[in-house]
Amino acid sequence: MTTENYQIETLAVHAGVEPDPTTGAVMTPIYQTSTYAQSGVNQHKGYDYSRTANPTRTALQNSLAALDRGKHALAFSSGMAAIDTILRLIKPGDHVLSGNDVYGGTFRLFKSVLEAYGIEFSFAETTDPDAVAAAMQPNTKLVWFETPTNPTLKISNIKAIADVAHAGGAWLGVDSTFASPILQQPLTLGADFVVHSTTKYINGHSDVVGGVIILNDDEIHDRLKYLQNAIGAVPAPQDCFLTLRGIKTLAIRMKQHCSNAMQIAQMLEDHDKVSEVIYPGLESHPQHDLAKQQMKGPGGMVSFLLKHGGAEAAETVAKEAKLFTLAESLGGVESLIELPAPMTHATVANSPLAVDPSLVRISVGIENPDDLVTDLLSALSKV
Ligand SMILES: *Cc1c(COP(=O)(O)O)cnc(C)c1O
Repeated sequence: MTTENYQIETLAVHAGVEPDPTTGAVMTPIYQTSTYAQSGVNQHKGYDYSRTANPTRTALQNSLAALDRGKHALAFSSGMAAIDTILRLIKPGDHVLSGNDVYGGTFRLFKSVLEAYGIEFSFAETTDPDAVAAAMQPNTKLVWFETPTNPTLKISNIKAIADVAHAGGAWLGVDSTFASPILQQPLTLGADFVVHSTTKYINGHSDVVGGVIILNDDEIHDRLKYLQNAIGAVPAPQDCFLTLRGIKTLAIRMKQHCSNAMQIAQMLEDHDKVSEVIYPGLESHPQHDLAKQQMKGPGGMVSFLLKHGGAEAAETVAKEAKLFTLAESLGGVESLIELPAPMTHATVANSPLAVDPSLVRISVGIENPDDLVTDLLSALSKV
């Protein structure tokens, strides 16, 4: 289908997916095959080996490219594999300027894996484009940040930082996992690469780990596609199928995530045991205006701090909540609760990126919001 003319809700259901040419199957089949028959030497139908290409993966990639308004998408077996593959464009001696509030696994990849290969990393406050400009170096090849960030939900101005990166001759890569393509489309604001951990909102059902890169540039796409095949961190056909299935309800899920999270954030903001609520939809959020401008909704993630009791009280809330499952990850239909400091962000403990140990992060699901509020109120009453 030609995608430009359709709204995102329509693209979520239709983009990238054509009835199967051999049978007319409306849903793209799980092409569970490693290899493909050739009619003569190197004569095939575009598929010769499933690391290189697989039809179920092609459908997923086409769907994800359309949703982020990009020309190309490449799917990976995890969000980290997608990020690592972009970093293979960076050479020893090059500098990467990263946001100072990134996913723990991204920080670990940068500092504990890639730095040893001669790539230089530094970290800047990306909520301030001037701070990014000041931190640019002559050898900066890539500016990288998340918006909203994990877990402090800071919002950075994609358009302003794209200008800064490009003025310095660098690419801009945006990890848009927390927003999903429904709430923001960084390529339309000047980013060169968008990455998602499709594990989160895009698949949305907490049953697949995956990642994607979306971009417009043909030449860089060719190189990344070469790397995708050369490195081989590709998703299995069944995972591509499940993710495609999840995408069909992405728009409607995001709507419910946003409205449920807003209701919970307002309840928490009025609660006498809570000292601070971080949610881009609240006027108290430092980048509330930017969020309204740049995003179609404030998302489903809420973080908060308790007035008293520190890490121990935070642990009590996390353990006492019943509908909110105590678990890592986010973006699924079910609500989750966690403490970033000892869990998802343990790898940044004792670093400048360390998280307040009493911070509670919730991934608000699509359950009935009143049930979720009742559950949190009950957990808070145990503190
Ligand atoms: C989860 C996550 C990742 C890593 O993705 P995986 O699929 O777990 O490898 C990267 N960035 C953000 C913002 C994430 O939430």
